[in-house]
Amino acid sequence: MKGRPIDREREAARLLGVTRYVGPMCKRGHDGERYTSTGACCACLNDRRKGPAHETQIAR
Ligand SMILES: [Zn+2]
Repeated sequence: MKGRPIDREREAARLLGVTRYVGPMCKRGHDGERYTSTGACCACLNDRRKGPAHETQIAR
């Protein structure tokens, strides 16, 4: 923990023991729902899994 501070939201989420939290908006424009363990954007990971065929689901 000597390194850079992580998101406050992420730190709080970790203390709460939840797997996801809402952090800063993703650089791709997603709403900021992220995994607590990695800080990675959930929507981005979903996009990767599904592949480029699901672009219609971006809204909301
Ligand atoms: Zn994203």
